[in-house]
Amino acid sequence: MKISIIGIGSVGSAVATAVKNTGVVHEIVLFDRDGIRARAAAEDLGHAASFGFDVKISAVTSYRGIRGSDIVIISAGANQKPGETRLDLLNKNAAVISDIIPKVMNNVDAKKVKIIVVTNPLDVMVMLTQKLSKLPAGRVIGTGTMLDSARLRTILSRHLSVSTKSICAHVIGEHGDSSVVNWSSVNVAGLQLDDFCRQMKISLPATTRNTIVHRVHNAAYEIIQGRGATWDGIGAAVSDLLRCIINDEKRVLTVSCVEGTDKNMVAVSLPRIVGKEGVVATVKPKLSSEESSALRHSSKIVRKSYDGIN
Ligand code: NAD
Repeated sequence: MKISIIGIGSVGSAVATAVKNTGVVHEIVLFDRDGIRARAAAEDLGHAASFGFDVKISAVTSYRGIRGSDIVIISAGANQKPGETRLDLLNKNAAVISDIIPKVMNNVDAKKVKIIVVTNPLDVMVMLTQKLSKLPAGRVIGTGTMLDSARLRTILSRHLSVSTKSICAHVIGEHGDSSVVNWSSVNVAGLQLDDFCRQMKISLPATTRNTIVHRVHNAAYEIIQGRGATWDGIGAAVSDLLRCIINDEKRVLTVSCVEGTDKNMVAVSLPRIVGKEGVVATVKPKLSSEESSALRHSSKIVRKSYDGIN
């Protein structure tokens, strides 16, 4: 299994680190417009790999080097500076994606390749990537709200004193400020959240839930304020997604992919079944009326941003 990563900044490096530790990939190719940076990362990661799984890591200076890739991960582009939203990156990163995708497509097998999009604003970049690549929608997969869902599970786990692994909780919609916490579908150890709280005598009133939503929405801002960028969480999310695809696990992940046609075409995250063909099905979540309207609002923001690309 050969994968290529385009854009070897904080995120691309963290993705490469996490992926090499999975043992499911035999070759990782790194490309960045800054060739020196990519080569240095390949050296460093190669040294690290000698302590773990056998994986060949190389940097290339031309897109020809990504030939034969099964999966291409796009993590190139500007990141948020403190105070910036993801949507503030729209035109800068639309230009980056428009530069990269045609070059990627000239060097991969369009019949089988899958593209994982990480660059923000995530959902709009998924739409643009799908349009430029002309790949089937299910093979252009944005990490979407995988990270937001992980943040939600982590915060809930602390409140409920139960492992994140026993919590099924999804954030859906835009990977951005309009994302929606899908409280109606939260399930802990097979029980609805309220039932679990009753049994465990845990109080989770509306004020606490609102604080949790606020913390999920602000997690990236807080991390960027404290360490300049976010990388470990997304690195782990991409490697989890990659494992799910490569092993054909058919797990349900909140990833983003394009749905609909013409004016109704949009990419947002929903619980989707992911396997070796990419996104193979979408699970319609249980939604309250507020959640439904928040999801519609979120989709509109993504679509409006896509229409607003200069
Ligand atoms: P960074 O500035 O550290 O790295 C970006 C890299 O992209 C640089 O090395 C740069 O040289 C390269 N690059 C830029 N334009 C390029 C081009 N046209 N061709 C090839 N390489 C190019 O930024 P980062 O912190 O690694 O973030 C990268 C992206 O990931 C940002 O858009 C950021 O917002 C996004 N991100 C997404 C998530 C998520 O959950 N989806 C999480 C964190 C970051």
